Amino acid sequence: MIKITIDGQEVSVAPGTTLLAAAEFVGAHVPTLCNSDRLESFGACRVCMVDVAGRGPVASCHTLAYDGMVVKTSTAQISRLRKNIIELVVSEHPLECLTCAVNNRCELQTVAAEVGLREMRYDEVKIDKPLVDDSHPFLTLDMDKCIKCARCVRVCDEVQGSFILAMEGRGPDHKVIAGNDTGLAEAKCASCGACAVECPVGAIIDKGTQSAGIPEKIIKTTCAYCAVGCGLDVHVRDDKVLRIEPSIDGSANRGHTCVKGRFAHEYARAKDRLVSPMMRDETGELVDVSWDKALQFVADELTRIRGEFGPAGFAAISSSRCTNEDNYLAQKFTRTVMNTNSIDNCSRVCHSPSALGLGRSLGTGAGTNSFDDVEHTKCILLVGANPTEAHPVYGARIKQAVLGGAKLIVLDPRQTELARLADVHIQLNPGSNVAIVNAMQKILIEEGLIDRAFIDEYCEGEEELLAQVADVNIADYCDIGKVDEGLLREAVRLYAASGTAMVLWGLGVTEGAHGTKTVHGLINLALLTGNIGRLGTGTNPIRGQNNVQGASDVGALPNVFSDYRPVTDPVARREHHAIWGVEPPDNKGLRIPDMFDEALAGTLKCMWITAEDVAQSDPNTEHVEAALRALDLLIVQEIFMTPTAELADVVFPGVTFLEKDGTFVNSDRRIQRIRQALEPLPGTLADSAIYQEVALRMGADLGLGTPPLASDVMDEIASLSPMWGGVSYERLEELGFLQWPCRDSDDPGTAIVHENGNFMRGKALLYPIPFAAPAELPCDEYPLFLTTGRQLFHYNVGT
Ligand code: SF4
Repeated sequence: MIKITIDGQEVSVAPGTTLLAAAEFVGAHVPTLCNSDRLESFGACRVCMVDVAGRGPVASCHTLAYDGMVVKTSTAQISRLRKNIIELVVSEHPLECLTCAVNNRCELQTVAAEVGLREMRYDEVKIDKPLVDDSHPFLTLDMDKCIKCARCVRVCDEVQGSFILAMEGRGPDHKVIAGNDTGLAEAKCASCGACAVECPVGAIIDKGTQSAGIPEKIIKTTCAYCAVGCGLDVHVRDDKVLRIEPSIDGSANRGHTCVKGRFAHEYARAKDRLVSPMMRDETGELVDVSWDKALQFVADELTRIRGEFGPAGFAAISSSRCTNEDNYLAQKFTRTVMNTNSIDNCSRVCHSPSALGLGRSLGTGAGTNSFDDVEHTKCILLVGANPTEAHPVYGARIKQAVLGGAKLIVLDPRQTELARLADVHIQLNPGSNVAIVNAMQKILIEEGLIDRAFIDEYCEGEEELLAQVADVNIADYCDIGKVDEGLLREAVRLYAASGTAMVLWGLGVTEGAHGTKTVHGLINLALLTGNIGRLGTGTNPIRGQNNVQGASDVGALPNVFSDYRPVTDPVARREHHAIWGVEPPDNKGLRIPDMFDEALAGTLKCMWITAEDVAQSDPNTEHVEAALRALDLLIVQEIFMTPTAELADVVFPGVTFLEKDGTFVNSDRRIQRIRQALEPLPGTLADSAIYQEVALRMGADLGLGTPPLASDVMDEIASLSPMWGGVSYERLEELGFLQWPCRDSDDPGTAIVHENGNFMRGKALLYPIPFAAPAELPCDEYPLFLTTGRQLFHYNVGT
């Protein structure tokens, strides 16, 4: 540490600390314009000047402290200089504050007031030809207001990594340009809106902001699109969203979002929202009915089906878009009221191979490390994932890590943005994952790249793995994948030699045949090289939907209660019995594909599907539709009329994430709050409340209030889930988030699971993955090879 004196106070700071940061440390306020906490120091505006004894005025944002330095943040000379600078800046800035979109939120306005600028010695700027770029759907650039701080350019480079904006020209012609000065829309920006967030004036603004005014309240919540779990600030007035901005203190996004979280919120007040329950009339048409009629009909029918057909007659699909509390109550309703384990969620068709593989090899089915680890890793092995499109904020962080020097190996048939940045891109044939991962294992072993000490101390199953790998012919397997063997060897060496490497994978691994084998193979790579249980290492599926992790965590699966406690576990059963007041069911619950088969077989009579459009999104649409039509009763709970809802006998209108309280779990096990920002639309009902209303009409009670109180639901989840024992709304309010495992109220949560070889299953399991030939290959009848993947401007089935 080094000692400096600021405004008479002596302070110790770490080497490399800027004078601006040191001044903040002692509570001295130094005004700035071009500075931003999340960007590199730039030193463009000079407003942050301070006086250094023996040196005079220096820009504090990029002057580093040294031992013995004596600094004054405010002197007569410094005040005069700051005022002069602001006067010059304002002289080139249109003085139309009252009609400016950022009036009251403008940093220039604040600093001008702070330095006491009251009159101008220069003529007001005259704008002959307005420099306005209105080409973009979400953003407007008004370069007449630009103060040349370059924060927009820097955030586009340093946070988003898109390099769309640049400064061009000199003197009075100095300006921000997009692309080749062809306009922002033409420049194909990612529309993350970070430039508008950074702009200290009104030069880049959200289109929606222009006439929006000042919000009545700003509600902190969590994005409901993808499993990055970005923190959002929802600006609300008159029960409408004025705009959404990224939460600077969002733990997963640190003040950044993508286009969806930031701009795609109008659906909450869309005209085609479902706002009344619907039932079939005598002609078979779906028509609006009262809540009372729909609830009573469903309650009567479920009572009949339960009585006539027992546990086999009913199944539910709950929703990865809904909250943990909704999902917990969906499975509680299914188990306690309908007496069946037939509850599932859409992780069945995306990451259940990840959960199975991770659980079997390591002891728990979730990813091992945190998003933050990409900033600490030396090598990223990215398999079958396209995060810059599908998980844009995490994708941007990966991009920054790579630009900062981390090595990147991409295994993907596609030329993704990250594949273009990669040190090695293995463009394997679709379907050849098991062959290629097997070849990678063999290369590791054959070239002696394994971590012998780690395997001996922390792993089991090596013998079986070696016996299986002995049959692997690297050349043949590379042939199957149409991969150059030399390139594959280069990738394996890079991964093994880095010392701190992490594996990330997506649906390219799990949404196809042999997904679980590939997951095991990737875990084997990490175990064989000791790349697990440390910062910057690990094995991490990048989960898709906002709460696909949480839906499974809280027991919306047929074989487990919350916290993945098997429904056959006598201790878990006893504890559930004690709290639920009924004996949990003991039947073998149906998984989603089984549900469709059983419906067609005539065994399953009723399905209750919440916010999941299986008729559009599940594989084999004709089969799914036929199954749904075969049911006696299909109940669909949705916010819009979907192809699944169109097949329903009863439609319940639910609410959006902006209209309810609860929690989501993101891809790195981060439990975060969502908070009600808007009133539910008249005619709609929160999802949890619908389950409870039906339960009451069936003579049961879910026991957590009517409507259920989200915080009470969480308390019950915590009481039945050892790894969530320390989770409560009070702690989430206090800490912002908790990463499970979080076992008691003193547990701060776990950023890295299985740390230092403490695997949850005892020793980690090296699991053999015998070769499996590519499945689902093109043929004469189906000549195309299709693979799944999300696009940046698109969200799943569109609801
Ligand atoms: Fe929402 Fe994901 Fe975009 Fe973040 S990255 S704003 S969580 S869609």
